[in-house]
Amino acid sequence: MRPLAMALGLTLCEAAGCTGVQVGGDTALVRFVVEQMPLGLCVFDGHDRLLFCNQRYLDIWSLPATIAVPGTPFAEVMARTRGTETPRSRSQPQPEVGSAGTRRREWLLDDGRTVEVVVSRMPDGSCVALTEDVTQRRHDEARVVHLAMHDSLTGLPNRNQLREGFDERLIRHGRGEDLAMLCVDLDRFKAVNDSHGHLVGDRLLQEVAQRLRHCVRGTDLLARLGGDEFAVVQCGAPQPAAATKLAQRLVAALGQEYEIDGLVLHIGTSIGIAIAPFDGEDSQTLHRNADLALNRAKGDGRATFRFFEPEFDRSARARCGMEAELRLAIEREEFELLYQPQIDMTLNQVSGLEALLRWRHPVRGLVPPIEFIALAEETGLIAEIGRWVLHQACREAMRWASPVRVAVNVSAVQFRKGSLLRDVNAALLQSGLPPNRLELEITESVMLDDSAQAAAALRELHDRGVRIAMDDFGTGYSSLSLLRSFPFDRIKIDRSFVRDLGLRDDALSIIRAVVGLGRSLGMATTVEGVETEGQLQVVRAEGCDEVQGYFFSRPVNVRDLPQLLLALNGHGAGAMCATPSTPCSNKSFT
Ligand code: C2E
Ligand code: MG
Ligand code: MG
Repeated sequence: MRPLAMALGLTLCEAAGCTGVQVGGDTALVRFVVEQMPLGLCVFDGHDRLLFCNQRYLDIWSLPATIAVPGTPFAEVMARTRGTETPRSRSQPQPEVGSAGTRRREWLLDDGRTVEVVVSRMPDGSCVALTEDVTQRRHDEARVVHLAMHDSLTGLPNRNQLREGFDERLIRHGRGEDLAMLCVDLDRFKAVNDSHGHLVGDRLLQEVAQRLRHCVRGTDLLARLGGDEFAVVQCGAPQPAAATKLAQRLVAALGQEYEIDGLVLHIGTSIGIAIAPFDGEDSQTLHRNADLALNRAKGDGRATFRFFEPEFDRSARARCGMEAELRLAIEREEFELLYQPQIDMTLNQVSGLEALLRWRHPVRGLVPPIEFIALAEETGLIAEIGRWVLHQACREAMRWASPVRVAVNVSAVQFRKGSLLRDVNAALLQSGLPPNRLELEITESVMLDDSAQAAAALRELHDRGVRIAMDDFGTGYSSLSLLRSFPFDRIKIDRSFVRDLGLRDDALSIIRAVVGLGRSLGMATTVEGVETEGQLQVVRAEGCDEVQGYFFSRPVNVRDLPQLLLALNGHGAGAMCATPSTPCSNKSFT
């Protein structure tokens, strides 16, 4: 039997009209098929002389028709091709030299195209070469690889490439080498995104990426990890000095104002830094520790950087344990509410009760909110806890004989989660409490987060008759525009001003100014934290509408309320307020 390549070669040659040898079969059909195939086909005999090639072969290799003459030596054909073998070609397993088999090779041509050649050599030495233009395929493959390794918005390497790049640098620089991981997180990015839309947010992230590129050196590895989180791996520089300098540069560069679509925007950046090998030897540990340092930077006021310290890890683990306990506490219903009276200065009687949350921990006893609210907010558990508080407060308020207000503290996270409206409506409906007996106490952070969305939710609640109070006024930004953003029913002046009465001159001025402001804006004022008779006299003289504080009562258990309120309304509050012109009411609570 004739060797296949030879038979094929003769058949094809004949089909192409090269020789007069008849091998059999339908030569016209074979010729047609060979010329139509999308692959370049070329056949050499056992002496490496051309038997046949189709037009596609000539086109792919940009060879002139003159080369297609049967008998042209293989070396001459090769000499006319312009290109080099790619690394992929060299990585392909090849059969032994001189043996039969198939070889796959890849060439990068001088004009930029990529060509793949599959050469099948027959036992008699003849061979068939199939050539394919794989430019588009290689381009698509490279794009897929690029997409898998890069962030499409900024073009920066992504988390995958950061990990790979980190491991590579670790190998190159050795484990003893100082290598710093900086976790970079933007401050207030969410507010920009929410108030100006995602397009502006995207443009801002691109601009941030650009500034980051300018700050790092070519040897550093910069990546976007997602959202407004970036990371830089710095290597080959003395640590911690180099990371300190880089962090300072980044905080300064990203803190400069941005101009996007005519908008002038300000954001800041917080950075956490971990250094190998001390803070971790693999990217995962280092990243986790840099993240812990980042949390600390954010907690310390943002627009700053912090190096990892082992203590962060210990407190993170403790928080983790506490988070698990908090989840259990929800399941086991370990929460309860205490109530603290708010006294109307004109009527000298209790006008409202503020619900204050406590956690009855099986081992630690009664835990105050300062020890768990922040964690509940961070973990989102506050949504569920806050829902319980709303339902419980409304339910308990319905049992009071006197229809005074019940004030409930609401976290900014409850607004952000978007479930507050539903929760308030459900609590009112299920308890039957008239909406005007419920007052929600919110803090400035609610309005700072996303004032448009928060104001819309507040307006809807307000339209239903629910009252809204601005709590702890004077502790945050306390901008006047905040008071214009929503018609609050009440401003609660933070207790720190009462504490500072007599210690700092400005404390009284601020109380006076806020009471005056409230009066002119039609908002009632409540002064918090009144502990002594002297403080009470001062705030009363300033004309505030209500006071709340230990002077009247500490927060008490719901069971002790009837007695407390009887004491305060019956004679206590009036006697304590002691203004001869305002007699006390005898209203009592059951
Ligand atoms: P807040 O809403 O400003 O509540 C007033 C806090 O001041 C209460 O602390 C109260 O016990 C305390 N206080 C009242 N009068 C005086 C006084 O004369 N002197 C002093 N030194 N303190 C006084 P508490 O109960 O520890 O609550 C602390 C904060 O925890 C609250 O501040 C509020 O922001 C938050 N919180 C309490 N309950 C809840 C809740 O159900 N949900 C949410 N999101 N936060 C809550
Ligand atoms: Mg409050
Ligand atoms: Mg307060």
